[in-house]
Amino acid sequence: MTLDDHAEDIASDLGVDKEEVKDDLKNLVNYSVPMDEAKQSLRRKYGDGSSGGGTPSSKPIAEVTPADSNVTVTARVLTVGQRSIQYQGDEQVIFEGELADDTGKISYTAWEDFGLEPGDTITAGNANVREWEGQPELNLGESTSIELADEPLDVPYDIGGDATLAELAPGDRGSNVEVQILEVEAKTIDGRNGETDILSGVLGDESGRLPFTDWQPHSEIEPGASVRLEDVFVREFRGAPSINVSEFSTVRPVDRTVEATQSAQQMAIGPAVESGGLFDVELTGNVLEVRDGSGLIERCPECGRVVQNDQCRSHGTVDAVDDLRTKAILDDGTGTVTVVLDDELTADVYGGTLEDAKEHARDEMDKEVVADQIARAIVGFEYVVRGSLSVDEYGANLDATSFIRREDDPKDRAQALISEGEP
Ligand SMILES: [Zn+2]
Repeated sequence: MTLDDHAEDIASDLGVDKEEVKDDLKNLVNYSVPMDEAKQSLRRKYGDGSSGGGTPSSKPIAEVTPADSNVTVTARVLTVGQRSIQYQGDEQVIFEGELADDTGKISYTAWEDFGLEPGDTITAGNANVREWEGQPELNLGESTSIELADEPLDVPYDIGGDATLAELAPGDRGSNVEVQILEVEAKTIDGRNGETDILSGVLGDESGRLPFTDWQPHSEIEPGASVRLEDVFVREFRGAPSINVSEFSTVRPVDRTVEATQSAQQMAIGPAVESGGLFDVELTGNVLEVRDGSGLIERCPECGRVVQNDQCRSHGTVDAVDDLRTKAILDDGTGTVTVVLDDELTADVYGGTLEDAKEHARDEMDKEVVADQIARAIVGFEYVVRGSLSVDEYGANLDATSFIRREDDPKDRAQALISEGEP
């Protein structure tokens, strides 16, 4: 069964929107939750109607667990994000963010407009507890009472949702950022309500760069503009965080130029993979091996998939086109990723063009000679690789935009010494 089938399964059982379920499912699977467990958790989230009974008790946030069915908490509102979702076939506006007291913080979703503002101190009576990614989450709905407190509660967290791009993670809601628009493109997509105009591109600040989508094109979003975006939410797109600007977001020019960093965030491979995906990251490690499917390969002319014996999974027998690609395993002791080099980067490490590679393969009557030559050129050496990291059921892949051999490689020097010393 594909992810799509599993989502269909849950959505039809519970009568909820399939796309929402699919997004959630994809998220859980990306966090390496086994499929069965992920489905169970979503069945709980979308409610098999089992909210349980019992009188809600008042609890510090740190003590709220998914085992509680209903609780009463007194907390400070950290963030409020507004979003429109499809719920049981209808469009519904929800409010979501985080609440905190002095013991901890917790995510919430409000199904009604309680007029929550960041900084408010509230007592939420009879809030429903659900589990999300193994964590408890509060649902404020019809049966919940919200009371405003006069005295603000002191909490050890920032209030209001201001963040740098490097701090954002998929799932963040009600966030505010000050960024420069680096790239922007207008597109027409086939959306929920028919054809929709959207903007997509890349934005940056001093801490990093991220892709974004503006679902309700704002005229202030233009190339080079420095803007403050309020109430955006972060989703995962191709395994990396992506900023979503909605009809509820505000976009205002700022009277300074936000300097967007040119360099990528440098990370060790293990933590980078654990983060679940990064749009622009720099990893350094040793190439352990060159994987199958490298060198001279063939692609379907329709969809670009790699094919063998002219058979495409979607398009049957095709007149395949030749291409160059490298899939190399990079390791730094903390983890491994598969680095994918496109045709140009592959030509660089191979030391020849696609035509050279074809001639090489013809002369030797073996396609593998191309991959073999690439392996000889890069295996065992240390590389600094920049690109976009995605982590999914197929593993951790870094689509490289640059692949540079580390010149001051201590191992090179050691090897040079050893070979000099050899008889
Ligand atoms: Zn195809």
